[in-house]
Amino acid sequence: MKPYRGRFAPSPTGPLHFGSLVAAVASYLDARAHCGEWLVRIEDVDIGRAVPGVADEILRTLERFGFTWDCEVLWQSCRTERYRAALMRLWEQEVVFSCACSRRDLAGSGRLTEDGVAWYPGTCREGLPSDYLDAGRIARSVRFRVNDHPIAFVDRCQGHVEDRLESSVGDFVILRADGLFAYQLAVVVDDAEQGITDVVRGADLLSNTPRQIALQRALGYSTPRYLHVPVAAHASGEKLSKQTGAQPVDPGRAVQEVHAALRFLNQNPPAQLIEDSLAALWEWAVAKWDAAAVPNAQSLPLPDVTNRNGDSR
Ligand code: GLU
Repeated sequence: MKPYRGRFAPSPTGPLHFGSLVAAVASYLDARAHCGEWLVRIEDVDIGRAVPGVADEILRTLERFGFTWDCEVLWQSCRTERYRAALMRLWEQEVVFSCACSRRDLAGSGRLTEDGVAWYPGTCREGLPSDYLDAGRIARSVRFRVNDHPIAFVDRCQGHVEDRLESSVGDFVILRADGLFAYQLAVVVDDAEQGITDVVRGADLLSNTPRQIALQRALGYSTPRYLHVPVAAHASGEKLSKQTGAQPVDPGRAVQEVHAALRFLNQNPPAQLIEDSLAALWEWAVAKWDAAAVPNAQSLPLPDVTNRNGDSR
């Protein structure tokens, strides 16, 4: 068996909030409890969404929370050539095709995937349709050709997951119309080239995993183990994010925030550890990490402020 190697892969679209802290804590503890390595990767492949300065701020925040990582931080924005090489291999295998559909064309299908993008009806699968050619439309994006065989895996927290990509998402984009590589391709290439054995991340990404497994198989990569932890949600049920007004975590209250993250992950940290040092809390958390205790829900309510501050115990 390969030695354990995990990672935390934030997108620098906004400062770390409690939801991203939970994912960082879970992946860090799972790696350290396995005496494994833990890597940090900045997922800034979507340069349009990356907010200048935020990646550095995230790294500083992680440091102030006491996380330590192995190897140098990997920046996706520097890895375009690796993604291009993977795309070339997919072309050679004829498992991708170019597509000239616009968002407006696809909105017409009226079917949305679980993550809110339009399901792809296969319009350009066998070449651009004649009405596109007559209108002089050119292909701008590249899609991965899916089929209807079930893709199944056992998530260490969510259990058996199975998906048929043709009916759930359809052929999906790996090179976007704006020339940027899509997250799905970048994450698969990076996880493989960084030798990641275990992906621990928020369950908001669970529905992406079958697409990533399909790409891993096409590229001849092995599939890591997966553990999708519940995401923190507002009382309304919306996942915490910059868009839904999530507050940045406060490194000045690192012990309280990590303690709250541990409680969110159902690790039952002793209340008195809140009075102790950050180092003591991490030491306890690594020694006692119990992945099986993580609730197998896809989302859980954000602890309220009293709870997050640990004052209620
Ligand atoms: N960059 C993604 C995010 O911040 C995480 C991707 C992953 O862990 O696979 O949501």
